[in-house]
This record gives sequence, structure tokens and C-alpha cells, in this order.
Amino acid sequence: MAGIYIHIPFCKKKCHYCNFYSTPSVKHRDKMVPALLEELNLQKNYLDETIDSIYFGGGTPSLLSGDEINRILDRIQHNFAVSPQPEITLEANPDDINLAKVKELRSTTINRVSLGVQSFFTADLLYLNRLHAASQSEYAIKSLQDSGYSNMSIDLIYGIPTLDMASWKENLLKTIQLDIPHLSAYALTVEPNTNLQVLIQKRKLADVSDNHSAQQFRYLMQFMRDNNFEHYEVSNFCLPTFQSKHNASYWSGIPYLGIGPSAHSYDTKSRQWNCSNLAEYVEKIDSHKVPFTKELLSPVNIYNEYIMTALRTNKGINFAELARLFSENQRSDFNNILSKYQDSPLLTISADSVSLTDEGFLFADRISSEFFLSD
Ligand code: SF4
Repeated sequence: MAGIYIHIPFCKKKCHYCNFYSTPSVKHRDKMVPALLEELNLQKNYLDETIDSIYFGGGTPSLLSGDEINRILDRIQHNFAVSPQPEITLEANPDDINLAKVKELRSTTINRVSLGVQSFFTADLLYLNRLHAASQSEYAIKSLQDSGYSNMSIDLIYGIPTLDMASWKENLLKTIQLDIPHLSAYALTVEPNTNLQVLIQKRKLADVSDNHSAQQFRYLMQFMRDNNFEHYEVSNFCLPTFQSKHNASYWSGIPYLGIGPSAHSYDTKSRQWNCSNLAEYVEKIDSHKVPFTKELLSPVNIYNEYIMTALRTNKGINFAELARLFSENQRSDFNNILSKYQDSPLLTISADSVSLTDEGFLFADRISSEFFLSD
């Protein structure tokens, strides 16, 4: 099993919190799809495994036309072994979804749509500098559902200073009422070098509070469980059978190929990432070279990544798998740290595995870093 990620690096407007690579400039727009197709040729031997999931992310993939999506998918089919029914996801912004766009998407084999709703309230969308209006999200969801898309996910953000508890409850209730089977919910984080960081420093926007975020995260976990959603990864919740194959592959050590500027790839032994510059990307691909930087993963890197990704899931770390994958010394270090957590409310330790409790999910990064080894 393997996945392919396609990065579409255009956004009409930059959201304040965003640190993904994207540009509002359309200067190289017409060269973008031919460059992606060429990279799919240049990288056709990167993966040995069958492709089980394809993910159009960004940026804003919903800016692609149906024809462009089909050309990319045809090239993948031509160059790779693709399973008979791969999950094919497209991230979309609500302002791009109208009846014509839905019809275009239905002319492709996209079978899952992930919609960047973030909040159903105007004050939050303004704080985040999102382009869409609150009313456009509901319209987009209903239009996609009416056309036959039942496999849908939405993104929500909690911890926004403008989002009080009543509004957060309303956002979650609406998710259920709108029959959304998959939710990705992220804490608002002030990333370095974002507009959000600058605006908070200049006191033009209210700062983010850890307590506010934690309170909303605790409510989120309980509410989704009460509504029969599985909390299968720190930020991801789904109804039975709606787990995202593509997202799950990132947490399960499954190889993937990333295509497009800034896209990351992983083949179990190394990671590589393409340059985050569209002009440079297009130029290099034009001369039949993929502009990437590569890092070989040391045994310690592989161990630390396993700990970090496995602990983010509800399955946690399986002891038999740990024994199969890692050395006796590594396991002994692991057990030493684990013994400090024997009576901790942050971890559930059974005979077979260890996983985070609800309270532990709040500290997922800190807890996994305590298990990390150094070279
Ligand atoms: S739409 Fe997504 S990728 Fe584009 S600026 Fe906003 S958060 Fe970033």
C-alpha cells in the first residue's frame, strides 16, 4: 500500500494562521499542471507498492478544473500500479463550490471531498482571514451531498479567541446535523512567520490561550464520542468505515510520494521534500530534474517517528510491533520511560499496547518527545 499527494500551491488570499506553501500569484498557473505531469513521469519508480490513496491538497486544489484533475489522475494510472478502488480526496474551499464546480468534480473519479469550513461563524472567519462567508459552507456541503458525495470531511479550528464555548458547541452540532461522517479538528496555533503572529504581536488580534483551546478540545472529544465517532487520531474523528486511508497512511509508516512544490515524500528509509518556490520548481522540472532535498533516516529517526505517529492514534503503540521493528536496546529505553507512566492518567497501558487517554491527547507531543532517543 502507498499514497500519492499532489500539492496545488495557489490560494486567492492568505489565511492569517497558514504556514503552508501557497501563493496568490497566478504567474505560473498555466505551467503548473504540465510540471506536475512531468514530475509524475520523473518519479514513476519512487514507489514499489500499489497506490491505495491519492490526495489533492494545498493550497487550494478546488481551483483545478475537472479536466486538469482528470489529466493528473490519468497520468497516475498510467505510471503507477493503482488499486481497483483507491480513495481519491480533493481539498476544497467553500467559496469554490457551486453547481458548476460540483458537476465538474462528478466528471472525475474524486470520491472524497475535504472541505475547509474552519467555523460556521463570521467572526471566526474574519479573525482567521478566510475568504469564504459563513453561509457558503452549508451551501457547499449540501451541494456536494446532493450530487452524491457522501464520503466527506470538514476541517474545523478550535481555540480561536472569537470562538466562545457556545459557538464551538454549535459548530460541532452543525457537523452532526449536516451528516458529515469525518471531522478534522485542529487547535489554532500561532506558527512562526505567519500574519497571525505579527498581528498578535502588534496587538491587532487577540492572542490564543492554551486553556481556552484545552477546554474546547475536551468538549470535542466527549461530544464526538457521544455521537458515535471514533477518535482515531489526535485531530481526526470518523463514523465507522469513514477513516481517511490517506491520512492514516501518514501515521502507519506507509510510503507516499508527494508531487508539486513543497510536497514531501517518504519511502520508509528516507524523506525528501521539494523546493517551496513555484518558479524554481517549474524551471527545474522543465529541465527534467526534481528539485528536492533528501534526508536518510537513521535507526533513531525511524524509532522516534514511529513513537510520535503511533502515539497520536487511538491504537497507540503495540508491544509486539515494537519488538518486531526495533532493537532490544531501543525497547529497553522505551520500557524505562514507560515505567514512569504506570499510574499516570495520561496513558492507558494494557498487556498489548499503550495509548493516550483523552487527557493524554492534550499533551501528545510532549509525551512522545519523552520517549525519543538521540543519535
Ligand atoms: S486556504 Fe488553506 S492553504 Fe490557502 S492560505 Fe488558507 S489555510 Fe493556507
